[in-house]
Amino acid sequence: MNNRDSELIGGMLAEKGYEIVEEEKDADVILFNTCSVRQHAEDRVTGNLRKLAARKKKDPDLRIGVLGCMAQRHQDLLLKEFPQVDIVVGPSNIYDIPDLLAKTDTTEKLLAVNNKKRPGKKIEADQRSGVFSAFVNIMYGCNNFCSYCIVPHVRGREVSRPKKNILNEIKGLVDRGFKEVTLLGQNVNSYGKGLTNKITFQELLEAVNDIEGLRRIRFTTSHPKDARKGLFRAIKELPKVCEHLHLPLQSGSDKILDLMNRKYKYEDYKEKIALLREMVPDVGLSTDIIIGFPSEKERDFEATERAMEEIAWNSAFIFKYSPRPPAVSSFLKDDVPEEVKKERNTGLLNLQKRISLAKNKTMIGSEQEVLV
Ligand code: SF4
Repeated sequence: MNNRDSELIGGMLAEKGYEIVEEEKDADVILFNTCSVRQHAEDRVTGNLRKLAARKKKDPDLRIGVLGCMAQRHQDLLLKEFPQVDIVVGPSNIYDIPDLLAKTDTTEKLLAVNNKKRPGKKIEADQRSGVFSAFVNIMYGCNNFCSYCIVPHVRGREVSRPKKNILNEIKGLVDRGFKEVTLLGQNVNSYGKGLTNKITFQELLEAVNDIEGLRRIRFTTSHPKDARKGLFRAIKELPKVCEHLHLPLQSGSDKILDLMNRKYKYEDYKEKIALLREMVPDVGLSTDIIIGFPSEKERDFEATERAMEEIAWNSAFIFKYSPRPPAVSSFLKDDVPEEVKKERNTGLLNLQKRISLAKNKTMIGSEQEVLV
């Protein structure tokens, strides 16, 4: 999502005559489009801002901006503790960036963080970082409030884009030679809720599948509680939808899933995967796992290891838990020691590597469709 936002920002600024430069030292404007999902990402931004303080002193006309989720989350801190920062812009306000940069008074700090409905806007110089594969937002925000997650707090509540806008964007991409789109949303399965013209995610997939010249459709992310037979049927029956599902499990322990407010049990997840594999036997599967969530005991971790062996995803993104205030779990004691988190993280990564390798080996000698 941040990649796509950066493309949109680049496009808006290109319309105003700005150009991307290769070297940071040549830039008159430096914008950090930030992520708050983990502490590590935020630490890297503050580290970079500190490095830029000296240059800003020598060159007061240099414009520095912090955009995205960290801007939304730490708006006051950024303005107070980082005097080198000129603009702070939340994810719902990215369309304000050209106007904020056009303000000539460089001593004024400018803030745009109204965490409200994000407007749509057609950008003529729509920049894309790829040439055949593109991200397309279909919705913004999230209503799920998983207890560890900062997203609903910084990206706001769920809002779907109208189908017509999405289809027009994709048709425009196909005209420019793009072959593959990845439809983006925090929870794509709830696409369409709140729109005046009712539509489900499966119906959107059908409409995208009908676009002539488009070759492949991917999407991310699905929530296990909402991924159902209709979605699996779309993966099976729509020829352009890739046979892949990213379905974040997060933990194999029902106790931890409950504390995470994920609203499903491991058995529910397993049953859904069994149904999907029955319908689409060669489906590729990937997941997200958080280890070291508050109160995670050895038996909870073992349940996650077991899940990894049982489901045998093709790949998994495995992260160590870090509290993200004001997300609810940040009020729980972060009681799994760092070295235990590290050990469990490494153990799980090694297990996944072994599983991925075994799965890849089964494909040797097979015939596969690829996009070059
Ligand atoms: S579904 Fe849960 S983890 Fe995903 S963005 Fe929403 S709150 Fe965060």
